[in-house]
Amino acid sequence: MPPEVKHTHRPEETEAAGAELAARLSPGDVVLVSGELGSGKTTFVRGACRALGVEGPVTSPTFTIGQVLGDVPEVAHLDLYRLGSMAGEDPALLEDYLTPDRVGFVEWPDVAEPELERVAARVLLEHEGGDHRRITVA
Ligand code: ADP
Ligand code: MG
Repeated sequence: MPPEVKHTHRPEETEAAGAELAARLSPGDVVLVSGELGSGKTTFVRGACRALGVEGPVTSPTFTIGQVLGDVPEVAHLDLYRLGSMAGEDPALLEDYLTPDRVGFVEWPDVAEPELERVAARVLLEHEGGDHRRITVA
């Protein structure tokens, strides 16, 4: 599938883009979400989570690398910003979150990229000035 590019102008539109992708996902799928700080990664994941039935706040995990949200399916939301490197980490660290019955979203995935399996989509968010963002889904 060729990459899909969207331009959004407010957070709600980025949430809608997340929801649109979520509709195409199945349990076990993992989505890598890249982009600079403040580019809208968590906003995108929030929209996807809503579409997958998650209620309540969706923010980036703060004291852990991940959190499990929702019910059927469960959604694993990881943020590897502070992980630095997988060297010296137990590979089970990721497997504990990214199970076959969950839909997974990973912010700052680069550090874990070689270990991530079942990558269903790669999302890149980029600043385009003000509230404008460019979203590429590949
Ligand atoms: P990240 O997870 O990439 O650090 P967040 O989603 O946490 O980014 O934050 C993005 C910030 O930018 C939020 O404060 C959000 O309200 C704001 N924002 C403004 N315009 C947009 C847009 N078009 N899409 C996504 N977020 C936007
Ligand atoms: Mg974030």
